[in-house]
Amino acid sequence: MTDFAATKALFHLPEGMIYLDGNSLGALPLAADKAVGRTLRDEWGEMLITGWNRAGWMGMPMALGDRIGRLIGAEPGHVVMGDTLSIKVFQALAAGLDMRPDRRVILSDSGNFPTDLYMAEGLIKALDKGHELRIVAPEDVAGAITDEVAVLMLTEVDYRTGRLHDMADLTRRAHDAGVITVWDLAHSAGALPVDVAGAGADFAVGCTYKYLNGGPGAPAFIYVAPRHSAQTSTILSGWQGHDAPFDFDLGYRPNPGAERLRVGTPPILQMAALGAALDIWDHVDMGALRAQSMKLTDMFIEGVEATCPTLRLASPRDAGMRGSQVSFAFEDGYAAMQALIARGVIGDFRAPDIMRFGFTPLYVDEGDVQGAVDIIADVMGNALWDQPEYKIRSAVT
Ligand SMILES: *Cc1c(COP(=O)(O)O)cnc(C)c1O
Repeated sequence: MTDFAATKALFHLPEGMIYLDGNSLGALPLAADKAVGRTLRDEWGEMLITGWNRAGWMGMPMALGDRIGRLIGAEPGHVVMGDTLSIKVFQALAAGLDMRPDRRVILSDSGNFPTDLYMAEGLIKALDKGHELRIVAPEDVAGAITDEVAVLMLTEVDYRTGRLHDMADLTRRAHDAGVITVWDLAHSAGALPVDVAGAGADFAVGCTYKYLNGGPGAPAFIYVAPRHSAQTSTILSGWQGHDAPFDFDLGYRPNPGAERLRVGTPPILQMAALGAALDIWDHVDMGALRAQSMKLTDMFIEGVEATCPTLRLASPRDAGMRGSQVSFAFEDGYAAMQALIARGVIGDFRAPDIMRFGFTPLYVDEGDVQGAVDIIADVMGNALWDQPEYKIRSAVT
């Protein structure tokens, strides 16, 4: 079991704010301040270049990868940190296509996050072998898995609606048709239990600044199944994925294992912050987290529906079918969200009409949910959002 009142005390939460956007940027773990300060002063400051050996910087991408591996059900040594999620999507997709050289279709769904689709488009152009990106509705994915498909690339939890794909079932169907799977866990890692090994996933990727609380710009992770790691093509054959980077060979020879998926120099300061966040995650029971997340999201839906008839639930009603977020559709959702933010309830807006609220049990509790419901009821019931200042769009929504 996990004591969520105790975990909440480990985060910095601004006074008077109800933060329901940990699905976009997780809250600051109090210990991250000291951890980053220590890395700056005692390591960078005092050790300079020797920090790569003396402070263990070089081993951090694999060491942190293993700690995330526990949260996603990965075998030790098969999760590697580095770069951003977009880059890791590109790498995993390229590796998958390389394993199915006589197939030309990448299958994804219209609920996927745009960067995943854009990276696929770019890869198709760069390879110039006539690949096709086939995008179907989320509910049509299972039926679209055919033996033309090289790679099935899906995000498990839809960033807009929170709808959850059945990873084990779709992976099984994909494998029956000889298809390689790439799972994006951006809205899964730290949001619900994941079992990449149990599901038989071939590749998985995700970011660490959302539910995992690694901070803005924290590095992404990539998982490769042990059965593939020794043959995986890396496409971005950077020196840190070389078998012996400090031999400075003129030719690329990949590391024999998953570490080949490293590209360049890792972000040590970001990893120090992520390490502090994982000090909390190391003690979290994912089953307890899921139970608490379902309780909070159910309570939120019930409260909002009871008080705001103009908001339409855009997430699955069954908690077992959604991740750890709740979305409501409302035509003036952007203005409504700005009015909520002005009153200390922080969610976000996704075009065209989605008001999105993330629930992070490590630092959001029942009192926060009730407080948010009361403010939403006031803003919607009294049309407080209908003010010109709430309709001016910012760059980040
Ligand atoms: C958040 C998110 C990303 C972001 O990619 P970055 O390269 O980290 O900016 C990509 N894919 C999905 C599915 C996401 O939810």
